[in-house]
Amino acid sequence: MKTLTLLVVLLFPLMHCHAQLVSGHHQSSSARQDSVGVSRGLHVHVDSLKNQEGPNAQFHIYLNSKGREIYRIEGRASEQVFVVRTFKTTQQLYSGGTRDGHSNPISRKVARQTERLLSRGKLEGDHMQNLIPIVNRTEQQKILDHAMQDGKGTGRHLSAARLDNFKLKIQYFKERTGDINQNGQYIAGPDSPPGIPGQHVKEIHAGGFHDVHTHPEGTFTDANGNKWAYTQPPSNRDILSSDCTQYVLGMTSRKVYVYDSTGVLAIIPFKRFGR
Ligand SMILES: [Zn+2]
Repeated sequence: MKTLTLLVVLLFPLMHCHAQLVSGHHQSSSARQDSVGVSRGLHVHVDSLKNQEGPNAQFHIYLNSKGREIYRIEGRASEQVFVVRTFKTTQQLYSGGTRDGHSNPISRKVARQTERLLSRGKLEGDHMQNLIPIVNRTEQQKILDHAMQDGKGTGRHLSAARLDNFKLKIQYFKERTGDINQNGQYIAGPDSPPGIPGQHVKEIHAGGFHDVHTHPEGTFTDANGNKWAYTQPPSNRDILSSDCTQYVLGMTSRKVYVYDSTGVLAIIPFKRFGR
């Protein structure tokens, strides 16, 4: 069994990127064509699409840059979700002296324009390039459920004086990991070894090899009274090692950060992720 698990872990990081490209960019470009006929009316809702037949009937959900749904085409095909890119700058996302990571934003104006067009059902044009395809809501929920498997009642904070409590609180000091397979399905992976945040430990580094990982919520007060926490958005290392669209879940910030090797692309709060 152990060998099998290891194999799966080793294989998925190699395979997922093709999957992401196929279910993302490729299908979204065909979607643009298909949606021409669909987007004629000003208000295209479920009712007006009920009669749409055929395997190509798109099911698209469009989210604004805050993760709120602003438009939907409900068809027979499997659901695809798109989110408008963030306008949050590196400075807004990463606080503190060491900026361990960066954003790749569009301007607020461009984001707003994109959202205006989308909410009117305009699904063709340059503004479509400001969208990022993400996993569907069923898989979003699986990711969230896995990430939220924290123990209860043991607290999140650890102090140097009570390091003997570490075992009780260990789930708050681990990264959960997972991968998205070629069918766009989430497969939970192993937890990282636990780590305690400190001056030189901003993250555990389990993430680089997985499509999805959490950044823990545990905080630590050292012997000098300094309080330490994990960086919530993707680290520089996460970003540099990314070879496709990947996800970090900030367990303190309660946000999902979608990123690739260019930086953070989109941000969705937990409350709007999943079903
Ligand atoms: Zn990370």
